[in-house]
Amino acid sequence: MDIVKKQSSQRHVGIIGAGPAGLIASDVLSQAGCQVSLFDQMPSAGRKFLIASKGGLNLTHSLPLEQFLQQYRQHRPVLAPYLLQFGPQQLREWIGDLGFETFTGSSGKVFPEDMKGGNILHALMERLSHQGVSFYFSQRWVDWQADGSPTFLSGTQTTTFKFDAVLFALGGASWPQLGSDASWAPIFSSHGIALSAFKPANCGFNTNWTDHFRTHFAGTPVKPVSITFRDLEGRSFHQTGEFLISDYGVEGSLIYAGSAFLREMILKNGSATIQLDLAPQWSTTRIAQKLSAARGKRSLTTHLRKTLGFSGIRTALMYELLAKDYRDDPALLAQSLKSLPLRLNSARPIAEAISTAGGLRFNELDQNLMLKKFPGCFCAGEMLDWEAPTGGFLLTACFSTGMAAAKAILSWLQSEG
Ligand SMILES: Cc1cc2nc3c(=O)[nH]c(=O)nc-3n(C[C@H](O)[C@H](O)[C@H](O)COP(=O)(O)OP(=O)(O)OC[C@H]3O[C@@H](n4cnc5c(N)ncnc54)[C@H](O)[C@@H]3O)c2cc1C
Repeated sequence: MDIVKKQSSQRHVGIIGAGPAGLIASDVLSQAGCQVSLFDQMPSAGRKFLIASKGGLNLTHSLPLEQFLQQYRQHRPVLAPYLLQFGPQQLREWIGDLGFETFTGSSGKVFPEDMKGGNILHALMERLSHQGVSFYFSQRWVDWQADGSPTFLSGTQTTTFKFDAVLFALGGASWPQLGSDASWAPIFSSHGIALSAFKPANCGFNTNWTDHFRTHFAGTPVKPVSITFRDLEGRSFHQTGEFLISDYGVEGSLIYAGSAFLREMILKNGSATIQLDLAPQWSTTRIAQKLSAARGKRSLTTHLRKTLGFSGIRTALMYELLAKDYRDDPALLAQSLKSLPLRLNSARPIAEAISTAGGLRFNELDQNLMLKKFPGCFCAGEMLDWEAPTGGFLLTACFSTGMAAAKAILSWLQSEG
């Protein structure tokens, strides 16, 4: 049975999705004196935010603002207005105001001092409680009523609430077990709201490892290593860092950095080949000189260890990826070790990806992030159609659009009298 909750005289805002975008909006709106009801289909808030902090919560990045904005590539124009208002510096200040100092790591990434998201989430939930926010957990948004009111399902009970404004902050489509299952997408589509197809972003890729290599090296990191390839537009991608061999192929930060381009290449051409540089610290000439040292009766494995200091994984990659004919001549081997071809066959499934590309198209929203088809309904966070590499750029854009939507809701409420 539907129960329609009566509206109180105070301006009442419903926020659906208790991830970073919904949480910051709840903070702003409750501080501004709105009555805020925060909904989530999970039994508690911020589950993906907590997972994101497992290896250290990379909140944002210390790049100069223009370079920071460039990380959003083709989505820069749509996100820049929000990031210029509330960007990395403002995010650090907001976290600071919650009681947590941040620091910049050697890579330029910014973390809370204790590296954790749990304490931040706990402090924020306490603050929201204190500011009078009402929490409605295990409530799944299932549709709009004809007047735009949202309906929720909990167990077998559906409930419709009336609000003066609503914020949708429902997340993307990866890690659905944490609540961000994109179950909202077909509902938006059924109301004629256009979405771009979801695709995995910051994801691993499948390759054809031999059984021997997979058995012996799955779980092994490769560091330092460079990857190089040309994207679909012919631009060269070259980056040095670290990746991980997995039983299906490759994953990890260096692979994620190139993943948006690699995904598109695979979609168009059926596969993508990257060149691995197993000795990025040395030039080809220097490697050839080292390899030219007398080898005697040493095996190639021992020779690579003695001359280049190669560990098991580098030598194994050489055997796995390089045809025999290229192994004996020092000059040819040196060249090959600087550009070992690794063919990637497909991206891993969306459910495993760190984030998703695709989602609600920006042309369905006005510049205040309000749905043109549902005046009074706003959207923010990863559910919008943008993507970014890891490095804190994801969380920053989620918090930033959540902040922008909250401010736009305040203006909307004012203009509506
Ligand atoms: C393993 C991992 C590591 C990551 N590490 C980082 C990192 O270091 N730095 C970084 O910047 N980013 C990182 N991210 C990405 C970052 O966590 C997300 O981009 C961010 O959480 C998205 O915020 P959001 O508020 O848009 O959505 P989410 O955090 O996904 O929250 C959406 C909420 O909406 C709820 N919801 C969805 N549908 C409904 C519905 N129908 N009804 C009610 N509630 C619903 C969900 O339960 C969820 O709680 C990581 C992600 C993963 C998976």
